Amino acid sequence: MNAVEYEPVIGLEIHVQLRTRTKMFCGCALSFGDEPNVHTCPVCLGHPGSLPVTNAQAVHYGLMIAMALECTIAPRSIFHRKNYFYPDLPKGYQISQYDIPLGRDGHLGDVRIHRVHLEEDAAKLVHAGSSGRMHTAEASVVDFNRGGTPLVEIVTEPDIRTAEQAGDFLRLLRATLKRTGVSDVNMEEGSLRCDANISIRPVGESNFGTKTELKNMNSFRFIERGIDAEVARQQEILRGGGEVEQETLHYDPATGAISSLRSKEEAHDYRYFPEPDLVPIVPTEEMLERARAELPELPAARAERFERELGLNAETARLLSFRGELGDFFEDALGADGEVEPATLANWVTGDLVARLGDTEPQQSKVEPRALARLVELVSAKTISQSAGKTVLDVLAAEGGDPERIVEERSLGMAGADELEGIVDRALEANPQAVEELRGGKAKAIGAIVGFVMRETKGRADGGEVNRLVREKLQL
Ligand SMILES: [Zn+2]
Repeated sequence: MNAVEYEPVIGLEIHVQLRTRTKMFCGCALSFGDEPNVHTCPVCLGHPGSLPVTNAQAVHYGLMIAMALECTIAPRSIFHRKNYFYPDLPKGYQISQYDIPLGRDGHLGDVRIHRVHLEEDAAKLVHAGSSGRMHTAEASVVDFNRGGTPLVEIVTEPDIRTAEQAGDFLRLLRATLKRTGVSDVNMEEGSLRCDANISIRPVGESNFGTKTELKNMNSFRFIERGIDAEVARQQEILRGGGEVEQETLHYDPATGAISSLRSKEEAHDYRYFPEPDLVPIVPTEEMLERARAELPELPAARAERFERELGLNAETARLLSFRGELGDFFEDALGADGEVEPATLANWVTGDLVARLGDTEPQQSKVEPRALARLVELVSAKTISQSAGKTVLDVLAAEGGDPERIVEERSLGMAGADELEGIVDRALEANPQAVEELRGGKAKAIGAIVGFVMRETKGRADGGEVNRLVREKLQL
């Protein structure tokens, strides 16, 4: 019997910490890495009688996210209490949104967005083992600084079919959120966290299989690997005649192992009910207008513009738009010098410049946008060779400066005809066998001669010109 082919069905839930000054429902400052429990008050500690007040800036950022994801904004949405007990939740409930989220029915790329809603983060549990902060015994301690941090939760429709597609979507989402400025989207610090809902079904089946939830993966690579591991696990169960259980799982990136955290809860387990202490969110025309006005050009639109208006290829356009600072640098360089050819400049930015700067954004480097544009022009005009251009970029990255001066000071200008002629003569003399082969019709043999000239000129010669001179001298 042939094995049944299965198709993965994946939906993502993404939590985004908003970069507001204060928490979601109180005036405590947001912090990361401060002393534990210094940013707390009766509201975020859940003291009796304390009353929450909604952070207007968080609502504003929520609207911006919902709009960036092309959601329909609810004219009136409310907060709910999501009831459960956990040590990181002093009130015994989390304030979230339930049946009417801030935004719904959007999309990003080809993945539909089910909903976008506002909520508050839980506090942080720190598990201290015998080697940790607690020396005497294993224990868990709570840091309430994070409790009450404004979150936006983004839930996709189950439109994703592969781990790679999930990774691509998340990279586009992170670039989009970063561009809006509403979050620092730092995955290591937990300001962008992702859960994946995963099920599989026989190819051609339209009903969904039982799904499991992979919790809190904090890097794109781990998410992709975790999804692949979970899909493989489910296939093995179904092929063995078993049934997938609905549960919440943890993927350990170090070992690749998947372990069960708990059987998956249903919405009704939380006894959601409307939060009586908060007024509904009713966005006014003015609020909507302000959110719309603050949205910058987003990465997907920018990539499309780079392709359409500047003739960049899709891959380069994507590289420049997904790393916004790189795109900004490229556009600054383009604007600083009207002569430079966009596609050539883009190749220098995404290739040679990135190779030299790594993860450092070019704005933090010593390379000025105008200097790079000028350098690319010098190479294009054959004032200097490609290889000399790279040497100039090395200098720009290390010390900054003006490309023309660097060329002059280091004598990197293209070797002139007089200089070249002498060197070509010597190259022919030094490579009698190559000359013989060339005369015999073996065109490839010219490589040895051109190589000699390049070494002699330290890469300052124009390859085409050297070719021409060699052929002229040998009367080929
Ligand atoms: Zn507080």
